[in-house]
Amino acid sequence: MGKRLILLGAPGSGKGTWSKIISDEKGLAHIATGDLFRAELAAETPLGCEVKSYMEQGALVPDELTIKLVEKALTDKNASNGFVLDGFPRTIPQAEALGELLEKRGLAIDVVINLIIDESILIERTLSRLVCIKCGQPYNAKNMAPAVEGTCDHCGGNVVHRSDDTEETLRKRLEAYHLSTAPLIDYYGNRDLLVAFSNDGPPSDETRNRLFALIDGAKGKA
Ligand code: ADP
Ligand code: ZN
Repeated sequence: MGKRLILLGAPGSGKGTWSKIISDEKGLAHIATGDLFRAELAAETPLGCEVKSYMEQGALVPDELTIKLVEKALTDKNASNGFVLDGFPRTIPQAEALGELLEKRGLAIDVVINLIIDESILIERTLSRLVCIKCGQPYNAKNMAPAVEGTCDHCGGNVVHRSDDTEETLRKRLEAYHLSTAPLIDYYGNRDLLVAFSNDGPPSDETRNRLFALIDGAKGKA
């Protein structure tokens, strides 16, 4: 059975980039709440309209809406074969709800990878990052640009700068991270599930090998 992983980290710490690589190479479902919310927004669904103002302001979407979205994704994406959670949980109540959702299915998290990055790099990295609006593939104008400007290498979708990747919104998202998400480091640390992973450089083979060794070595909890 595939592993069940959580990627934890500040905005711009590389969660999206690495969870895509891990889920592609290991055949795991990729569940990224930010991507799911952006898809709802683009399709102008009722949920999309509800979450719009939170996302634009760099605030967290309320737990109740986020948990419902993840519950649906766990079912839709056949997550019983393993998954990578990217951007969820982001609060203690979300982590508790996730624990209950998995328990109901007889599943548990194998490892929580805490991506660690210097905050000064993080702001610079986030301001130059780009994303495919169709498949969620992250790019960076400085060191990870698509082969053809504005076009996704993987799906041909439009590659754009996210409207919430401005300095002002990023500062608010960082605040939300320190206030609501950083407590998850202790939460999962206390459960013996947390591993720290330094991710200061651009994606490289060295980082990939270090990360995959960590995942392969992670022992699942009963
Ligand atoms: P980043 O990690 O770069 O901040 P994401 O794409 O993960 O970006 O999230 C973008 C926005 O979507 C967040 O700022 C927030 O408004 C919303 N969001 C995503 N995941 C969650 C979550 N687990 N809980 C609450 N809000 C979320
Ligand atoms: Zn794409």
